[in-house]
Order: sequence, then C-alpha cells, then structure tokens
Amino acid sequence: MEAPAILSGGTMRTRPRVVIAGGGFAGLETAFTLRSRLGDRVDLRLIANEHDFLFRPNTIYLPFGGDEAKLHVPLTDAAVRRGVDLVRASLKRVDTDLHLVELDDGTIEHYDYLVLATGAAMRPEEVPGLAEHARTIWTPGQMHDLGDDLERLHLAAADGEVRHVLFAVPPGNKCAGPLYEIAFMLETWLRRRHLRDLVCLTFTTYEHQFIQAFGPGVHHVVADEFADRGVNGYTDQALTRVEDGIAHYANGTARTFDLLVAFPPYRAAVDYPGLPTDDRGFLLTEPDTRRVQGTANVYAPGDAGDFPVKQAFLAFLQADAVADDIAARIDPAAVPAPRRFAPVSMCVMEMLDKAAFAQVPLQTTGDPAAPVRVDPDAEEDYLVGVSPIWRLGKKALGYYLPHQFAAGRPFHGGLAWHAMELGLKGMSKTLADQVRE
Ligand SMILES: Cc1cc2nc3c(=O)[nH]c(=O)nc-3n(C[C@H](O)[C@H](O)[C@H](O)COP(=O)(O)OP(=O)(O)OC[C@H]3O[C@@H](n4cnc5c(N)ncnc54)[C@H](O)[C@@H]3O)c2cc1C
Repeated sequence: MEAPAILSGGTMRTRPRVVIAGGGFAGLETAFTLRSRLGDRVDLRLIANEHDFLFRPNTIYLPFGGDEAKLHVPLTDAAVRRGVDLVRASLKRVDTDLHLVELDDGTIEHYDYLVLATGAAMRPEEVPGLAEHARTIWTPGQMHDLGDDLERLHLAAADGEVRHVLFAVPPGNKCAGPLYEIAFMLETWLRRRHLRDLVCLTFTTYEHQFIQAFGPGVHHVVADEFADRGVNGYTDQALTRVEDGIAHYANGTARTFDLLVAFPPYRAAVDYPGLPTDDRGFLLTEPDTRRVQGTANVYAPGDAGDFPVKQAFLAFLQADAVADDIAARIDPAAVPAPRRFAPVSMCVMEMLDKAAFAQVPLQTTGDPAAPVRVDPDAEEDYLVGVSPIWRLGKKALGYYLPHQFAAGRPFHGGLAWHAMELGLKGMSKTLADQVRE
C-alpha cells in the first residue's frame, strides 16, 4: 500500500484523495467504481461544471420529439449517496509538481490522484462558414434547433415543395455515428409521413469508408441501408467551406442544400498547459492505464484523452482501467487483477424502424489517416447485425445507465450489469454475424 498523504502543516491524512474533474461518463464511472472497490478508504472529490450528468447518446431523439428531462441525472443525490464530495466549479489549472488544482472560483485543491475527465468540445470554425450555415449536433439546444428545422421541412414538403438535406462529417470529427443515426432516423420519419419523395437526402464524409473506425462490416451495413432507402452516400468528401446554401469539398465538388446538418471537428474541452497533448489538445496517455504520459498520478479517461475514437462505451472501459489502477495502487489487495484498457467498442445505431449493432475490437495504428483498425487478432469478436430488435438494446441502455448513475453505481457493476451483459451477449449471438475481412 502506498504511504498516506502528508498535508503542508505536517498533519497526516489517512485517506488518499482522488480529485476527479468532469461529471460525464468517464468521471462518474471512475468515481463510482473507486467507491465500490475501496469503500471508505478513499476520499473522493468530484469537480463538475454542470448540475447534471447528460446522457448524450439519446439526445439523437430530441429533434424527433424526444423528452430532454429523461436525459439529465442530477449529480447531487448520487454524490451524496456514495459519499462523493461534489464541488460545483470549473477546473482551471493543474500543478503536477505540487499536486494542486485551481478552480475558477480561485479555490486550490490538493490531490493524491487526479482524473481529468473533462471530455471534448466542438471546433466548427475549422471549416469556414460551418458555424453560420449548418446545424450541428452537440448540445441538447442544438438538437432542439434541428427539431425546429425538421418541422419547417415537414411543412414545406407537405405543401409539395422539394427540399434537399445534406449531411456532412468533416475532417477532425472523432465520433461520426450519431450523424448517421440522425440521417437514418430522418429517412424513416419522412417515410412515415409520406413525404419521403419530396426530400432528397445526401450524406457525405471525409472518410474512405462509412464510419471507417468500425471496419468493413459497418461500412457495408451503412452502404446497403443508404441504397435501400434512396439516400445518396459519398465517401472521400472533405468539406472545406460552406456558403449560404452551398457546401464546397476538397475535390472541387459543390453541393447545394436547403438544410445542412454537420458534426464538426473535435478538440479537447479544456487546455492543460504543461501536460502532453496531441494537436487537438487531447491528453497523451499510457495505452493500458490511461495515465497521462510523464506524470505519476494524473489520468485522462474518456474523450479528454488521446484514444482516436470518442465514444461513451470506450469512455467506460477507460474509466474502469483508471479506477482499477488507482485502487490497486492504494490497496493492492482490493484489486488483485486490475482491468486494463482493451478497446472493444459496442454501439447500437438507431434508424427508428430498426437498428444496427456492432461490436468492434479495435487496434491503434499510429497512422493519422486511419488511426484505428479492426484488431486482426480478434476477428471472431467482430460482430455486426441489423434488426428491429436491436432497438430494444438501445432502449434498455437508455433506462439502465441513467438509473445506475442516479443510484451512484458504475455502468459496469453489480447484478444489473451482469443481466444486461448476458442480454447483449445473447442478442449478439442470434442477431449479429462475424465479419471476415
Ligand atoms: C449526439 C451524440 C450521440 C452520441 N451517441 C453515442 C452512442 O450512442 N454511444 C456511445 O458510446 N457514444 C456516443 N456519443 C459519444 C459520447 O457522448 C461521448 O464519447 C461521451 O460523452 C464521452 O464521455 P466523457 O465523460 O469523456 O465526456 P463528457 O460526457 O462530455 O463529460 C465531460 C464532463 O466534463 C465537464 N467539464 C468540462 N470542462 C470542465 C471543467 N473545466 N471543469 C469541470 N468539469 C468540466 C462537462 O461539462 C461534462 O459534464 C455520442 C455523442 C454525441 C454528441
């Protein structure tokens, strides 16, 4: 066991203090897992700049009339329930020499272990005109604005007017899946309203394949669905500039639109001067533990770190590795076999009439043009399927996760998770196929 911390006055603090910044997927999973692993042998402090946890994956339903209230989980109750000290503030600065963080209200906090789970942000300004002329899909407010656009689209089409909706994934985006979900959902939504013939749908991405990170199986599913649904899908289309009603691409193509929906380039939500980052500000980490490179006690799980694919499911796996590493360092007996980060992505892509499922074992490549690929040594774990029943999986996750976090329990924890895992495994056995490259 590591030695207890010594405070500046020479007083001995018996419980090591873990300071966690960010009340999202990675931050809460780390906090609740640490509490489960170590009980009251650790002092947990959560610095959160929002009152609620936001279940961002299900914000895709908001443009189609979904209820936003269900997507927010108040942090206070969960923190109180699990003895986590909640500090409502923004982390401003980190001093890794003195083991201190500074908050925006001027408070200084000491840490023994620091978890930077402050997530990502959007940088639409990388594509001139994008912020002014496109709907983007990051915040609930932006999703509601898109919902207003869809109502206008509905009215115009119902009056017999033809409309063009263009979707664009520009270079620098790290999680394209949700934009595909919205395109598929819109296609189903229009069809159900008998307006599909009046709305032309086009999807463009800078990648060589649709959702390239998830391999050929997912690309084929998307390409087939686009073909079946009459959506024009194009790869290798790097958006460079947007004007009112016209999108320009690097290959010289220009496309007109009535509505452009884009998922902008990513950057880190918080800059951490003095800590190593990539060119978008994401913290460079050790692959297995997500410990920030060159530091002894600082970790970066989830979107804040440098894993090339930004996904909640991967954020959980990283947070589990972080919590286990910290817990094992505090009390090795509590975690004899700490989990390490093995990137296996799982996702369910909503289409409203059915959903696609993918389980993808990933491997980083070091190539900036294709930073991950399907792990060739784990082909038998690469599963892809499409079925209306997968929508139940998405719904189940939508109930399960907010419920777990409201109770102060980790996503990967307890009987409920094991039941959920068994269900997912059973479904993937019968509803998804292995993909051979
Ligand atoms: C529309 C959409 C749909 C998605 N769908 C899926 C999906 O189906 N499946 C999936 O796996 N992933 C999905 N994702 C991706 C997923 O939401 C992210 O990967 C996930 O939120 C990352 O979790 P995180 O904890 O790292 O970051 P976040 O969830 O963004 O949490 C970071 C937290 O840190 C807080 N914070 C920021 N700065 C500070 C500061 N200075 N001080 C204190 N707190 C701070 C933020 O307010 C936030 O609460 C989707 C994303 C979007 C936009």
